[in-house]
Amino acid sequence: MSFKIGFKDNDFNNRTVTKTTPPTQVPRKSVVTVRFNSKNRTLSYYNDKFDLKVGDIVFVEGKLEGVRGIVVEVNYNFKIKLSDYKRVIAVADTNVKGNLYLADYHFVTFDRDVIPFSKILGWYKAPANPEEEIISSDDNCKYSLFDIDALPASGEIKERGYDYYMQNRVAYLSLDGEKGSAVVLGTEVYQVDFVYSDGEISSLTCDCFCNYFCKHQVAVMLQLRDILDTVIKDYGEMYNQSGYFAAICRNELLNTAMAFRKRGRLNIDCQL
Ligand SMILES: [Zn+2]
Repeated sequence: MSFKIGFKDNDFNNRTVTKTTPPTQVPRKSVVTVRFNSKNRTLSYYNDKFDLKVGDIVFVEGKLEGVRGIVVEVNYNFKIKLSDYKRVIAVADTNVKGNLYLADYHFVTFDRDVIPFSKILGWYKAPANPEEEIISSDDNCKYSLFDIDALPASGEIKERGYDYYMQNRVAYLSLDGEKGSAVVLGTEVYQVDFVYSDGEISSLTCDCFCNYFCKHQVAVMLQLRDILDTVIKDYGEMYNQSGYFAAICRNELLNTAMAFRKRGRLNIDCQL
């Protein structure tokens, strides 16, 4: 989309410049059929906020609020009683542009714009309700990333955290300076935040809202240890320069950003 700006300044009299803006979604009203795989349901919704396409990941209002849905059909030709329909309230931005590097079962990037945490969280979770009050507190405890045995968690929790890590349930993890965030796929989708410095983790919180050290936190620590090791060994120079990395499970990237699309472009420059 482009628009023109006219300058009224004397020097620029009668002169116009064309400025290009990033593509924005112009809403196109539709009635869409949405598939909710986790609930084995398919329902129709009214959309007047987005230009939805088949394959879009959406979140809706109503009974299935917060459940991730996939648009499987879009109808522009309709006549409906509005009161019969719930609406689509959010669509995930699954466009990924930039360099990704292989790191075992993950892709990593050192560019903050490629897979930022807020974008990836939106692939799994509906936008947070701004009225919901969330409080957290920090006990100032530090945990060594290299001594999982010493964590204040039961053997069972540690074992389940290890299983989560082995099953690649830490779908996403980023570390910007000392500030880290992760997305863990469990019974639901959980956000884990932490601070990492010199081999130690602190300010570790998980939004499964448990009040003890949970399996999601254990899984994130194991995954961080693993990815940090690879990043420093194989991509140390890029990581040193950016002070940032983000890692996403290979399968999650492919399954989420591409699985439901029927059209799209994929640029591959794979040097082995
Ligand atoms: Zn948790």
